[in-house]
Amino acid sequence: MNCFKKEHINRLKEVIKNDSKIILLTHLNPDGDAIGSVLGLHIVLRNKGYHSHVIIPNNAPDFLEWMPDFNEIIFYKHKREQAKKLMDEADVAFCIDFNAANRLGKMEDYFNEKSFFKVLIDHHPEPEKFCQICFSDTSASSASELVFEFIVEMRIFDAMNKKAAECLLAGIIADTGSFSYNSSNPKTYAIVGKLLQFGVDKNRINSNIYDNFSADRLRFLGFALNEKMKVFPEASSAYISLTQEEMKKYNFKIGDTEGFVNYPLSIKGIYFTAIILEMNDHIKFSFRSKGNFPSNEIAKKYFEGGGHVNASAGRLNITMQEAENKLEEIIDKYKNDINKSWD
Ligand code: 5GP
Ligand code: MN
Repeated sequence: MNCFKKEHINRLKEVIKNDSKIILLTHLNPDGDAIGSVLGLHIVLRNKGYHSHVIIPNNAPDFLEWMPDFNEIIFYKHKREQAKKLMDEADVAFCIDFNAANRLGKMEDYFNEKSFFKVLIDHHPEPEKFCQICFSDTSASSASELVFEFIVEMRIFDAMNKKAAECLLAGIIADTGSFSYNSSNPKTYAIVGKLLQFGVDKNRINSNIYDNFSADRLRFLGFALNEKMKVFPEASSAYISLTQEEMKKYNFKIGDTEGFVNYPLSIKGIYFTAIILEMNDHIKFSFRSKGNFPSNEIAKKYFEGGGHVNASAGRLNITMQEAENKLEEIIDKYKNDINKSWD
């Protein structure tokens, strides 16, 4: 599928002038694909001579700081005035790797007030209509893959360089779990091939993403798997729950629990997993599934969230005990669907 319709690309080429002020935005609690996709596009736009700035609602995890030009990111949470000024002055905003304005967190209201031209580049299902142009393809491995295609379609590929290629490859690797899921389309590999031609060290990028944690984080993972994982073989499901106290004990830093939810999926016969995290003022739920069990429908129906079929999340203001009870009821209710989701 190619979501970059000629008429939309042509319209955008008219909208973006040489002196346009462009801002690139991504979602709250950004992950590797979020950061990789915005920085990749930022570097290319800047190489092409455009005024480009990256604004992100809140902190990115430390393990993404190695990304080229990470230090140019403006975090709304810490530099609110600067971020607002850039939004005041902007002509065009790219919204990358998210499908609804509320994923901008505390930035949402200010963003909604602004009349800059809004362009979506995203791979999440059912994008809301909050942008004038919507480039959306749920079959793409990642937003980074779509940004690559966008750069080609806009005919600005001559401005691609090694640094931008590193960002986009990092995004693809992050959103596919090193080509373990969302990565069965040959097109993804054709794009990866072109990125590698810029001299990118794929193994090093993989290691930067997956071997960049603290000893505390690894011990916390050990604790979570050993003492906090509940397995429901009759429902092909498993989940982990972690309290504030447990996080404190292991010196929890933002991003530390990223990826924990995937581990129980490596158990033979487990096709649906969840992690329940007790945050400061809410309970966060993450879901992963294999095959056709739509974790995003569960997230949407019961947890005020959403996401992809096999990776989704939500949040509720309830207690940990209520959260566990609710999840266990849902696992029981859907066990027949989960059991046959990976047949
Ligand atoms: P994670 O478990 O990594 O936090 O999130 C998994 C996926 O769920 C993300 O890639 C994103 O697509 C989606 N997601 C996370 N939080 C939310 C949320 O609050 N609302 C919606 N609609 N989707 C979310
Ligand atoms: Mn993504």
